[in-house]
Amino acid sequence: MTTPLIGVLALQGDVREHLIALAAADAVARPVRRPEELAEVDGLVIPGGESTTISKLAELFGLMEPLRERIAAGMPVYGTCAGLIMLADKILDPRSGQETLGGIDMIVRRNAFGRQNESFEAAVEVAGIDGGPVEGVFIRAPWVESVGARAEVVAEHDGHIVAVRQDNALATSFHPELTGDHRVHALFVDMVRAAA
Ligand code: GLN
Repeated sequence: MTTPLIGVLALQGDVREHLIALAAADAVARPVRRPEELAEVDGLVIPGGESTTISKLAELFGLMEPLRERIAAGMPVYGTCAGLIMLADKILDPRSGQETLGGIDMIVRRNAFGRQNESFEAAVEVAGIDGGPVEGVFIRAPWVESVGARAEVVAEHDGHIVAVRQDNALATSFHPELTGDHRVHALFVDMVRAAA
């Protein structure tokens, strides 16, 4: 496969920015809202936004089970911020009715870095990405409290885990799609190519 088709889960959140970043990283990118659209893509990005809302909308759109099935079957998936929360096997502090898709053996803490007005940017060194640190944009960002044996920590900030990889799943608590630097998306596009 030379040019993979990558979906962006388009229920809520910063969908457009991911579509642009994926296109810049040499993928064909399109929004995914329905199970039929999910079935067509080679990989999926779950954007940042609000994880409780994304989880409730995924339920409403009949996407929860199809998403879990494809992730369990090895479809490459990349979650940013709220998307990282969606990929966690466990949330420490879920809102009532909040479900995750799971896929990464990790426990996350929502809003761990503080409120909206405590959002910040920081240089983050990511294992597997050459050329120096990426600019991490943290917006009401979660961190990862702990990971299980199968998950690999690929970035930390201030002693907290902020990026994890497990098999074909990647998650960052920051938002590379909001910067002009598409190296994290390029890493994910490579993961999709390798899985094909
Ligand atoms: N704190 C949000 C949540 O719990 C995530 C914020 C974000 O995606 N920028 O879903």
